[in-house]
Amino acid sequence: MSEPVLLRAAGVVKHFPLGRSLPGRGRAAVRAVDGVSLEVRAGETLGLVGESGCGKSTLGRCLVRLTDLTGGTVEFAGRDITRLSRRRLRPVRRELQLVFQDPYASLNPRRRVGDIVADPLHVHGFGSAAEIGRRTAELFDVVGLPPAYADRYPHEFSGGQRQRIGIARALATEPRLIVADEPVSALDVSIQAQVLNLFADLQERYGLTYVFIAHDLGVVRQVSTRIAVMYLGEIVETADAEALYAGPAHPYTQALLSAVPRIDDGADPSPAGRRERIVLPGDVPSPVAKPSGCAFHPRCPHARDLCGLERPRLREIAPGRQAACHFPQT
Ligand code: SF4
Repeated sequence: MSEPVLLRAAGVVKHFPLGRSLPGRGRAAVRAVDGVSLEVRAGETLGLVGESGCGKSTLGRCLVRLTDLTGGTVEFAGRDITRLSRRRLRPVRRELQLVFQDPYASLNPRRRVGDIVADPLHVHGFGSAAEIGRRTAELFDVVGLPPAYADRYPHEFSGGQRQRIGIARALATEPRLIVADEPVSALDVSIQAQVLNLFADLQERYGLTYVFIAHDLGVVRQVSTRIAVMYLGEIVETADAEALYAGPAHPYTQALLSAVPRIDDGADPSPAGRRERIVLPGDVPSPVAKPSGCAFHPRCPHARDLCGLERPRLREIAPGRQAACHFPQT
């Protein structure tokens, strides 16, 4: 039996209005997230993937209510949290945490890392100073850092260690769900694997649920149960990770996957066994003036007349698999 839905987004929209108007279109806006619906089940990892600027980080912030939504709803553990006030959101925040992309920028350089990790414990009234001290030491241990390091400052740590500190801070309040926004993209490849393993260990130990954001299908493969692919503020495909890597249905997913080396999937690494690289023409269009119909149609190798006229909705194309495409490649 599948686990209950822990996080549900329905028609989430986040637009950033600009100061100017477009002829015949009213006030212009960056349409960063443009009608996203998704579900995350307890204990799973949803990999949220797309090129830089596709809106995935903004969506991550909408999911944890770090930013207000322009439209749509977010439910966490069966409760609509879309319009909760800051005060009412506080107990929800204990259970819903964000790990930031840049471990260098997300830690205050003037504060000892032990104090940074202990902040959420103070905010949520975890207990006495002694109890908070004990919990902070435990958190350092859990993420693989000697508790004695708590007295040091952020500049005394490597990138991977700083990300471990960010993870310890997110774990402090014993969350049920963590949105990790490109948590390894600023790290060296050798360190990436260690931090990904830490995420996997913590999930097993605490039964955590993750939304794991990345721009590279290769990175999320290691950690994801399911994958959602984003393009210009929309989800264009969702599927179980295994099914998606075995045969992507959306032309954009096919292009993204064609850029990932196959060495790690046991496939024949010889030239004959390699995927053919799909090079998309042109650049990603501006989210201020999205193309009509399917937003991907100016770059899609399979586009037909209908694609420029009608926006395809995300629909089930096989059990457990959805694509927003008039002509999915199944
Ligand atoms: Fe390509 Fe058309 Fe599908 Fe869009 S709807 S991805 S343009 S085939």
